[in-house]
Amino acid sequence: MDHLPVFLQLRGRPALIVGGGHVAARKVELLLRSGACVSVVAPELFEELTERAQTGEIRHIAAPFDPCHLDCIELVVAATGDREINAAVSSAARQRRIPVNVVDDAELSTFIFPAIIDRSPIVVAVSSGGHAPVLARYLREQLEALLPARLGSLARFMGERREAVKNALRTVARRPFWERIVRGSVGSRVLAADETGAQSDFERELYAAQLTASAGTGAGGLGEVYLIGAGPGDPDLLTLRALQLLQQADVVLYDRLVPDAVLERARRDAHRVFVGKEAGEAAAQGRINALLVEHAKRGLRVARLKGGDPFIFGRGGEEIEVLSAHGIPYIVVPGITAALGAAAAAGIPLTHRKLSRSVTFVTGHAVDDGTLDWRHLAVPRQTVVFYMGVAQLSQIVGKLRSAGAPAGHPVAVIERATLPEQRILRGTLETIAAIVSAAKVTPPALLIVGEVAAFASADALLATTVPEPGAIA
Ligand code: SAH
Repeated sequence: MDHLPVFLQLRGRPALIVGGGHVAARKVELLLRSGACVSVVAPELFEELTERAQTGEIRHIAAPFDPCHLDCIELVVAATGDREINAAVSSAARQRRIPVNVVDDAELSTFIFPAIIDRSPIVVAVSSGGHAPVLARYLREQLEALLPARLGSLARFMGERREAVKNALRTVARRPFWERIVRGSVGSRVLAADETGAQSDFERELYAAQLTASAGTGAGGLGEVYLIGAGPGDPDLLTLRALQLLQQADVVLYDRLVPDAVLERARRDAHRVFVGKEAGEAAAQGRINALLVEHAKRGLRVARLKGGDPFIFGRGGEEIEVLSAHGIPYIVVPGITAALGAAAAAGIPLTHRKLSRSVTFVTGHAVDDGTLDWRHLAVPRQTVVFYMGVAQLSQIVGKLRSAGAPAGHPVAVIERATLPEQRILRGTLETIAAIVSAAKVTPPALLIVGEVAAFASADALLATTVPEPGAIA
């Protein structure tokens, strides 16, 4: 280790920056964030620093650097861009044993600034010891994405309850208790901005821990379930929260729509269970519900990974009903539903000021059961997206045509949207069935019906004749 990482308490302490330019301004901002009393020595200040000097946030010493400026100073940064001046600052500071940093010059520095991820009060510092600042910044970006935005809130939540826990639990019981808080539903709820839910789970956990302590048993608590939308397939379309919870889960239950590339983002040692539901396999849902409950009751953190969004034709509603009935805590993480992934991939705006004022998601399962209002779906200037509809394509076309939609009404079929094998086919109500059958399209695929389905190029747009509203009675 070339440098010892430490966190300096600078609140109210005098710090000096030598230099008045942009680089100096960045260091000034950092030191102000840590609460230091900042003075800046420079004959002239640039704009941002002039403002800070005027508002009294910093003290400006309008002069060239002189060693006497270091009197009473506890930390100094040289940011002049002039090596001679920087070296003078460095040697004067060393003589007085004051920690000094010269920007971009590790040799002249007695300390260096790390790359910082600030989730105060949690702060993560990354350093390459001056060898590869770009690599350190790259690592910072990776950590930024990995660390939940509300980590600081969790630290505060725990800090505010330390005293209460100290009074309620004996020393030996405290550490396992806090671990359950961090890893369990309390932690995930605070991170998901549900402090009310977190508070009630916290009270339940504390009560349980007290009971366990007095009974002298070490029974594990209840686990929890993360109902995670995995998006349409491309792993880069997972949300940050989905990634974070996938990193925590002990077990991952996934089905057919979730590709390997997404599964790879789960914790390496997590147990993966394929709960493959083939279309029409109704009994599978009962089995999945039972598995969710069983794993959670064993105290495990279960990720239920679903294609797209859990609440769009995903039976997420049924799963949370079962979980609530068993008192199992859960978190729902929205995902990019297939319609949005497909539309983006095909360059089809689902709504458009001139072409479509509304969008409807329909399941192909409803094509035959008499629940759909086909006359409504055939009205122009709207978009209708059919999920699970490739097998019923000719029925869908037939019903829309009989309800009054014109033969030339645009349709796009997007197969395996956002995946490497994605295919986009375009046609009209008249031609699409033949196009799809010639291309041998297989699920998963979805249909986008409406004027916007022709929105690929300017030519296609001009070719689309949009009937006036009300043309179909
Ligand atoms: N909950 C999922 C939908 C599940 S229903 C979501 O929000 O996307 C399954 C249907 O979704 C498939 O039959 C298909 O119509 C559609 N689908 C899912 N992923 C798809 C993809 N990558 N490309 C095209 N359609 C997809």
